[in-house]
Amino acid sequence: MLSLLLIRNKTKKIKKEVGSLQRVYNFSAGPAVLPAEVVRTVQEELPSYRRSGMSIMEISHRSSLFTDLQETAETDLRKLMQIPDNYDVLFLQGGGTLQFAMTAMNLAVKTKRVGFIDSGHWAQRAMEETALVKGTKAVVIASSKNQKYTQLPKIEPITGQFDYLHLTVNNTIEGTMYHQIPAELKKFPLVGDLSSIILGYNYQVTDFDLIYAGAQKNIGPAGLTVVILKHELLQNAPELPAMLSYPKQVQKHSALNTPPVFAIYVAGLVFKWLLAQGGVAAMQEKNEQKAQLLYAEIENSKLFKSPVAVEDRSLTNIPFVTGSAQLNQLFVAEAQAVGLLNLKGHRSVGGMRASLYNAMPLAGVKRLVEFMQEFERQHGGRN
Ligand SMILES: *Cc1c(COP(=O)(O)O)cnc(C)c1O
Repeated sequence: MLSLLLIRNKTKKIKKEVGSLQRVYNFSAGPAVLPAEVVRTVQEELPSYRRSGMSIMEISHRSSLFTDLQETAETDLRKLMQIPDNYDVLFLQGGGTLQFAMTAMNLAVKTKRVGFIDSGHWAQRAMEETALVKGTKAVVIASSKNQKYTQLPKIEPITGQFDYLHLTVNNTIEGTMYHQIPAELKKFPLVGDLSSIILGYNYQVTDFDLIYAGAQKNIGPAGLTVVILKHELLQNAPELPAMLSYPKQVQKHSALNTPPVFAIYVAGLVFKWLLAQGGVAAMQEKNEQKAQLLYAEIENSKLFKSPVAVEDRSLTNIPFVTGSAQLNQLFVAEAQAVGLLNLKGHRSVGGMRASLYNAMPLAGVKRLVEFMQEFERQHGGRN
């Protein structure tokens, strides 16, 4: 009797430990945290999607089960971002990285010149890929490279002919973002890489001619890329292999081959979750609150510093450093031990980076701030 009780208690304890293990705070820049409710729904629905007797991963992409879910996902995304009717929505593959080239293949058709705002790592990658598209010229029109991308480039009046301009709206690695789209850029067709800020800040779709975002940061699992583009852009696109052609993808509703069914399904659940949270405006407010909490801690601290210019700071990706590489390393390791995960900064910046996407709860940021204070009491100037 006694031993039975003992075993029962032990099991309870293990269960509790596993339970707490599941509640780590994941600060990864991507693939990133998903809403816990969404993950639970996936678990519940997995064996039999809508009483089909099959999981979502096993159903036909030509079945109404799937086409209905894709239509609903698109409708919800349109609602969330107030996407006008003259924009098409695509669910593609290949990540943000394929869009670096696909945009050029489809849109750089007249002058074959694309203007880039060189705001960091991902802008550079976009430029390199665009320049590899035959006949296309990638032109830097503004850069903050000399400031090590710790601030956004200053944009002067733009002269010259461009088929479009390219803007990385949130710089995931360096931690800068455009809180407003500079008016000067709107004089040209504008392509926006919103990979790490989409649905987290209330941008106007109509400020852009094309928006793209890899899903694995603020939307859903990897393997899905959302593209939102003005319908009239399709008119001038050249003949291209089907998978690389926006017009052909639009014509076939993103299903000219087998689409990433599971990723679209999870993205659809995230869209429903966002609508239930009050939409993008409500998310922006929460994101501002979370970011403010962390930035205030960094400002108040004697140990931690932000390398980023105050006015250009990102809401979703927040780098910070101590003065010592060893302390940075220790911070990341000790944080991990208490369930604050993936705080290591990108290798090009070093230090730490906390990504506070939509699905990161305020409680996670509070826990991080507490931990920073404990760490500073032990290792830094504060008492
Ligand atoms: C992560 C990221 C990319 C690359 O995305 P993939 O989907 O991995 O190709 C591009 N742009 C930005 C701003 C990113 O944060």
